[in-house]
Amino acid sequence: MKYVLVTGGVVSGLGKGVTASSIGVVLKACGLRVTSIKIDPYLNTDAGTMSPFEHGEVFVLDDGGEVDLDLGNYERFLDVRLTRDNNITTGKIYQSVLEKERKGDYLGKTVQVVPHITDAIKDWIESVSAIPVDGKDGPADVCVIELGGTVGDIESMPFIEALRQLFFSTGPDNFCLIHVSLVPVLGVVGEQKTKPTQHSVRELRALGLTPHFLACRSAQPLLENTKQKLSQFCHVPAANILNIHDVPNIWHVPLLLRNQNAHEAILKQLALVRVAGPPNLQEWTTRAETFDNLTNSVSFHPDYSLLLPRFVSRLTNDYSVQVKIAMVGKYVGLTDSYLSVVKALLHACIACSLKPSIEWIAASDLEDESAKSTPEAHSKAWEALRNSACVLVPGGFGDRGVNGMILAAKYARENKVPYLGICLGMQISVIEISRSILGWKGANSTEFDEHAPNPVVIFMPEGSRTHMGNTMRLGSRRTLLQTADCITAKLYHNPDHVDERHRHRYEVNPEVVGDLEKTGLRFVGKDESRQRMEILELPSHPFYVGVQFHPEYKSRPGKPSALFLGLILAATGQLEAYMKSHQNGSI
Ligand code: GLN
Repeated sequence: MKYVLVTGGVVSGLGKGVTASSIGVVLKACGLRVTSIKIDPYLNTDAGTMSPFEHGEVFVLDDGGEVDLDLGNYERFLDVRLTRDNNITTGKIYQSVLEKERKGDYLGKTVQVVPHITDAIKDWIESVSAIPVDGKDGPADVCVIELGGTVGDIESMPFIEALRQLFFSTGPDNFCLIHVSLVPVLGVVGEQKTKPTQHSVRELRALGLTPHFLACRSAQPLLENTKQKLSQFCHVPAANILNIHDVPNIWHVPLLLRNQNAHEAILKQLALVRVAGPPNLQEWTTRAETFDNLTNSVSFHPDYSLLLPRFVSRLTNDYSVQVKIAMVGKYVGLTDSYLSVVKALLHACIACSLKPSIEWIAASDLEDESAKSTPEAHSKAWEALRNSACVLVPGGFGDRGVNGMILAAKYARENKVPYLGICLGMQISVIEISRSILGWKGANSTEFDEHAPNPVVIFMPEGSRTHMGNTMRLGSRRTLLQTADCITAKLYHNPDHVDERHRHRYEVNPEVVGDLEKTGLRFVGKDESRQRMEILELPSHPFYVGVQFHPEYKSRPGKPSALFLGLILAATGQLEAYMKSHQNGSI
């Protein structure tokens, strides 16, 4: 196995994850098989308990692993399926060492950070990097390891030491260290400053690791003179100083690396020149350029003339074609909280040559109470909702904003505005329809009201009802489509089942399904026991879909998630034409 280690220096938030995944993309484009590991030096065993407000979204894998959102970047960029073990945390390592210690596996020895923790880290990396993640047999050629945090952090020390040892044991041909750093511009003269990078490289070297490459983040391209300075003071050949300056969209990053011949230098370092070919990044180039052109050009698809003006607006300054999506949720302050949803919308919009324009609406601002307490926010939220071409209610936990989400779902249903409810968003639809159409005023989820008179959404653990730990239904589960005659089946191209990822405890109460179906609602997707409602649709509506699963996790650039695509097509009046042309097999 060949390892590419990506570390970060100077400050956090440099885009280390995007840099590391883009390096993976370039290597993959050269014909290599690539896997990845993300190391998060925090103590949490996984990201499952971390607040999306603080840490961004919790990404969910097929195997039910709740992991850092960077794993989502790797899955999307490399088009792979990772496992929970591809995310290493300090908590996981200590847990495994302590379990061994309790079993007496250390034979009476004193258990220490060095060598026991460091050995556990090395073993973990070696065994996880061998797991195939691209659907093929056998281990990948290269494993990209991203070390979270910044070099010098106390909590990352055991990892640095383990990686140093790993480097030593695998040998120089099998290890490539890329250090991501910042080159800021300061002062009136606007000079590119190399000192922060010098300091962080010195720190890395003091810990026994010498970078083979520097990936310098900067606003503008690095000047030749800056490169020379960095090379001289950081002891890195000038050809190995890569520059990732600001680009219009992240799909440019692999292209930027390719243009600097990063692949050649990395392949040389890893002694892979003979097995790899020139990078084929045609798809990435097209995607990056398509998106740029959406922002910059005036090209209009002839069909757009059919669209209602409120759905597509020409921005006065750049003439882009954009579709407004109302995202009604709880965590709208930090957009990373819904990162995969945002990416899935982007993938779907790009497929339709549209630019997404997300209207972030705090669900609580839509509520009647907000009209009194914060009237301005209330009217702004409603205006944003009314000006949007479609409504998306994403997943969430806890009761904050639930009434606002119910109002948004009701608005979308009554006004025939395309609606996609994901997980909590589907449960919201069920509550709304129970209250508004069935007249069950007390309809609620038992998550929000344990003693709801009409519990239409209830706690349905797969295992024990009384044991509270591990009650979340997590990871890939099968949904059987109940009919081919529904929008979802058509969008997925008529399979008899779909496998999507889940992360929830509550579900539609099977006892009220009959009553709900009398309102016209259809449960077109169920699990294998037919007790769990997975997909709902409202046939009288142009696009009203609720799903208990999270389709966003499996969306990829170039392979948009079927339901997100459906939402965007419906929002721009193109859904019927799309489904018809697909039926005839013409697309
Ligand atoms: N809170 C809801 C549940 O546990 C929805 C979860 C979600 O949206 N991911 O079922």
